[in-house]
Amino acid sequence: MLTNVEFKFGTLIDENGEEVELTDSNYTIYLKSKNQDVRKQAFNLMYEKYSEFINTIAEMYIANVKAKTTIAKIRKYNSSLENAVENDDATIKVYNSLIASIDENISVNHEFLKLKKKLLNLPQMYMYDLYVNPFEQDKDEITFEDAKQEVLNALEILGEEYCNKLKEAFENNWIDVFAKPNKKSGAYSMGVYGVHPFVLTNFVNSKRDVSTIAHELGHSMHSYYSNNNQNVLNANYTIMVAEVASTVNEIILSHYQISKEEDKNKKAELLYELLEMIRATFFRQAMFAEFEKIVHEKIENGNMLSSENLNNIYYELNKKYFGNAININEQIKYEWARIPHFYSDFYVYKYATGVSAAIVIAKNILDKKPGYVEKYIDMLKQGCSKKSVDLLKMVDVNLESKETFKNTIDFYNEKIQELKALL
Ligand SMILES: [Zn+2]
Repeated sequence: MLTNVEFKFGTLIDENGEEVELTDSNYTIYLKSKNQDVRKQAFNLMYEKYSEFINTIAEMYIANVKAKTTIAKIRKYNSSLENAVENDDATIKVYNSLIASIDENISVNHEFLKLKKKLLNLPQMYMYDLYVNPFEQDKDEITFEDAKQEVLNALEILGEEYCNKLKEAFENNWIDVFAKPNKKSGAYSMGVYGVHPFVLTNFVNSKRDVSTIAHELGHSMHSYYSNNNQNVLNANYTIMVAEVASTVNEIILSHYQISKEEDKNKKAELLYELLEMIRATFFRQAMFAEFEKIVHEKIENGNMLSSENLNNIYYELNKKYFGNAININEQIKYEWARIPHFYSDFYVYKYATGVSAAIVIAKNILDKKPGYVEKYIDMLKQGCSKKSVDLLKMVDVNLESKETFKNTIDFYNEKIQELKALL
């Protein structure tokens, strides 16, 4: 309520010279503006407001952390992290391996930022330049018929049975496809036990929508397989594995699109989008996860934390994750105060583990490893009848091993090199 409703961020002058009000929801639009001054104004206004109220927000956040650490203590856990990972069917080792692997390989992310700076053609890059797309952005439109065919072609590698089910989804109205007035925004898939999954998308003929369809149908197929092979109590998959099947489809589609694209510039754009997806779901979420770990540990060790302490912890992490490629504006130290996920303790690391599992799986599928697709489909049939980490072991993903996360960073690096070679 405070930050979404009551905060008034003031006005900025947009690309057309018009005075517009900055809000929490249009902030990301202005951060993607091609005009650096517009981005800078939005960034400054946003953090000016947060800095004004930073002590209040710090108190709220610390109170939330203290509640979680106290509950963990009462329940005889060694830490709030141990409590949280147990609820996810995961282990502390998963959490620590993620952070340790990033510690050892973070320079790869710095390299991507250097490349981004070059692509943006900026003499100096700042934190407010992070979200602008250096490519003109492919304005070509695509019909739903063609989008459907592209998804089917890309996912053909998952076998006849999987594709027949996809066709059934398309032909039997599982999907509410087009954007229309008063329709709920965004996209999601909902599994319905005993019936079939339903998907909502807001298709507006943009190329980006193709990836959304592949993603949501990944969720649907996971629900379909689990619902048809488990009893109602074991059919729902956990959050730990929820984004795996969807991201596998996204990566396979991306691979398909990149390999068949002949236009060098469009190919580069597709690679850039894949890299940005990994930066946002892996590196950014891991940075958040590390922040949470540090704060919870400090409180569990009896430290008193002030807003200034939280700001410093967050600022230091930004230095670690971004390196020298970018000027780390001082105001970014307030960003932690804008992240609603921090009130669901130890949630965000699951984005990073999910994309890492998906990369291992997609690579094995694309490499046509014998018997692997069958193994993967078998995993999708398990719902939550096994522990999440064990489910992923069925498809050769070991989340407790640093190697799994190193593999994500290697994949990221490989794509950086591919993009560099095109420039
Ligand atoms: Zn999803």
